[in-house]
Amino acid sequence: MGGRVAYRPKKADAERVGALRLKLSQTREWQRAQAIMNEIVVAVGKYRGQIVVPRQCKACGFFGHTRANCEVAERRQAEREEMELCREIRGFARYADEVERAEAQRLRDQAEDRRKGKVTQGEMYEKLGIAWSEHPHGLGAFPTWYVEGRKDLTAQ
Ligand SMILES: [Zn+2]
Repeated sequence: MGGRVAYRPKKADAERVGALRLKLSQTREWQRAQAIMNEIVVAVGKYRGQIVVPRQCKACGFFGHTRANCEVAERRQAEREEMELCREIRGFARYADEVERAEAQRLRDQAEDRRKGKVTQGEMYEKLGIAWSEHPHGLGAFPTWYVEGRKDLTAQ
């Protein structure tokens, strides 16, 4: 196989090794971690005079696990994703507000124009007998052939 040697405790030593592993996971000091690791190697009956260097997590700095199975890193990642989602939602809300405001303004302008006796663009097209549609970006009335011919405007 090669690669990392797994130091799995025998049943009798399991409790002691469990307690040592817990201690290992609660330190960020490498000297202390190394001392605990030495104890673990002995406790599992694998001591042959070698030094087994404990793994230190690059995310939280504690020993005995890596970034790949770090709860702190996992929590940070979840928080980042949540913040990202919140930003997106705020962005959508802002965009919806802007669209709503623009539409309200357009209706006010239209009412004002009507009050002044002006005809809307749409009414103008109707008088001219030209089929018309609202521009998908809220730019007002355009001949239908134009809007239809610009499907890329509506595809968002
Ligand atoms: Zn960690």
